[in-house]
Amino acid sequence: MKLVDVLEKLSNACGVAGREEEVRVLMKKLLKPHVDEIKEDKLGNIIGIKKGKKNAPTVMLAAHMDEIGLMVKTITKEGFLRFTKIGGIDDRILIAQKVIVHTSKGPIRGVIGAKPPHILKEEERKKVVEADKLFIDVGATSKEDAQKMGVRIGDPVSFDIQFTRVGKDAVVGKAFDDRVGCVALIEILRRLQKIECTIYAVGTIQEEVGLRGATVAAFQLHPDVGMALDVTVAGDTPGVQEAEAPIKMRKGPAITVTDSGLITHPKVLRWLIDAAEQSKVQYQLETGLGGTTDAARISLSREGVPSGVISIPTRYIHSPASLLSLNDLEKTVKLMVTAIKSVQKYF
Ligand SMILES: [Zn+2]
Repeated sequence: MKLVDVLEKLSNACGVAGREEEVRVLMKKLLKPHVDEIKEDKLGNIIGIKKGKKNAPTVMLAAHMDEIGLMVKTITKEGFLRFTKIGGIDDRILIAQKVIVHTSKGPIRGVIGAKPPHILKEEERKKVVEADKLFIDVGATSKEDAQKMGVRIGDPVSFDIQFTRVGKDAVVGKAFDDRVGCVALIEILRRLQKIECTIYAVGTIQEEVGLRGATVAAFQLHPDVGMALDVTVAGDTPGVQEAEAPIKMRKGPAITVTDSGLITHPKVLRWLIDAAEQSKVQYQLETGLGGTTDAARISLSREGVPSGVISIPTRYIHSPASLLSLNDLEKTVKLMVTAIKSVQKYF
């Protein structure tokens, strides 16, 4: 399967944090041919193991399977669903979004509704409508009707958008954060044949709500080096200043120097930059972004694990539709494959 097709499959799959099953099944299937062993841990992380030589370093590569979304909070007597947010979602992007409510009877479609602008007062119209004023309309006629459709409190809700290609090299879809990391993970393993080090390829759960899966995965695996494969904000869009978000799409992967949860170990930074230069992959260095990744938790596991992050620049992260370049994905894979082959020289 081509990289773009794998990304399409994973992007269209639904896996709101804590409910990653659909993605987990796919990841298991897609990783399996490229590892010696694959298992699922008690919380739902997927761990693929590719064995290397004895006494060579062990490397944990993590990509999170979960995505941001919503969860049904209450059902009104008229049959509308109030919801709570799962992960970091900007209230401004919610109105009029098409969504899928994942019920025990299967997925049902709906739309996020709000008070019509026509009847809002001048002052109200200028303000962002907060999430707790919004509701999901699944076409139910009453609370009982919604329940009959299968809706229960706690049902996960994902955005209803299908993957599509745009321009020469770009794609639009949901949950690229971090399904594109999952794709990179699979492709890196596919391209590595005989290697010295042992790789733990981990599809983690619940990253968006506090890096939870990576925490327990790093503890059980006890790796020598940790890497998160994730996305970062591409700031090359109108209205964004260079100093606010300097990473650009189509300029290669970003190697994190610092973020809000990690100061990359100097040895890891050297290793990654050397690999980029050796493989002639264009790269960008990133510091000071507000968010963080699984690497923050991996690095603090047990007695500490030197860790880093490599990110694919992505526009409109944490919204229903993100956009990225397939060339950046390709460069990310190439850089990481080169790095893995030389890891024993650094650790
Ligand atoms: Zn992420």
